[in-house]
Amino acid sequence: MINRIVELAEELSNERRKDPELVSRMEIAAHGQFPRFLLISPINRSSQDLQLFGMVMGDAFHGTRVPRMPLLPPDKAPFLFGGPAAYNRGFPNERGVILTFEQDEPEDVIRETLVNIVLHPDVKGIPILVFRVDYELGRARIIPHGKGRNYEAENHLIARLRRPDDLNADTLVLICSDSRVHPPETPNGVPMAIQTLAGYIPKYTGFDDETHQLNEFFTEWLSTMSSSRHILIVGHGNFEGEGHSCGAALESLNPENVKNSFLRYVISELQVAATQFESHTSVNAEDRVRSLSLAIKEHLLSYPAVREFAETSLSDFIDILLMDTVSNILSTADI
Ligand SMILES: [Zn+2]
Repeated sequence: MINRIVELAEELSNERRKDPELVSRMEIAAHGQFPRFLLISPINRSSQDLQLFGMVMGDAFHGTRVPRMPLLPPDKAPFLFGGPAAYNRGFPNERGVILTFEQDEPEDVIRETLVNIVLHPDVKGIPILVFRVDYELGRARIIPHGKGRNYEAENHLIARLRRPDDLNADTLVLICSDSRVHPPETPNGVPMAIQTLAGYIPKYTGFDDETHQLNEFFTEWLSTMSSSRHILIVGHGNFEGEGHSCGAALESLNPENVKNSFLRYVISELQVAATQFESHTSVNAEDRVRSLSLAIKEHLLSYPAVREFAETSLSDFIDILLMDTVSNILSTADI
């Protein structure tokens, strides 16, 4: 399976090199990212949302919501929502924060999410674009609300809608929020994904916070003992010499230089977690991404539902891959 995903990433990268628009996106990506949207998707629809709205490399910075649960206030969800929204504030062309909900999600989940999202100081003043989506048909409905809208951006997104590829609910990817890296496609459809700064998730805390929501998600997802269930940790960076490291990993080398206090808290956590897996403190972002991947794997296994599944799983259930930020080509990590 892993080998096929790596091959597929190379095939898709070669395809992109034949499309002048995507080639220019890659050239821009070698110098930085300038996303126009922060896209907060339910974990199971993260990859499909990118296709639904026709988002290509560089279009959307990504945050994560646990499906059928409201987005928590930023202090209770510093990694799934708080960190990505704080990082996103630094981009110049921000047109809106997109929130998507599935057809059958209760109204209360939407209402509570809207109340909590505007508690983040770095979301203030940015329009919130809310959609209820039928992923089978590739259709979406705009949800009106009073938290600040942008009709032009809403209509722009509605006009771009297309039916996404099928979901492969057996594969869960942990990958950076970076707009230049998308969850890799699998032979059986697009995967579910948790997209955070550097793809990092904290250890399970046992408190009523984002880790509680994540454990609920893992419990439901892993309730059927299936050998095809699989988690991929994808670190990204300059692995082919075409430029650009993971920004969050780079900043974690010197978290004291991060000005935004919310972001500094998250980036400092990345540093603390990664250094547990470094014999010498990393001096470049690519080494930092490798040690972070090991920390993420350990943290995943602190969730009771994941640990239980891993202990009874016959095959390797969690794998680590590295992705080049610009070409999006994958390699297996020798760490
Ligand atoms: Zn990154």
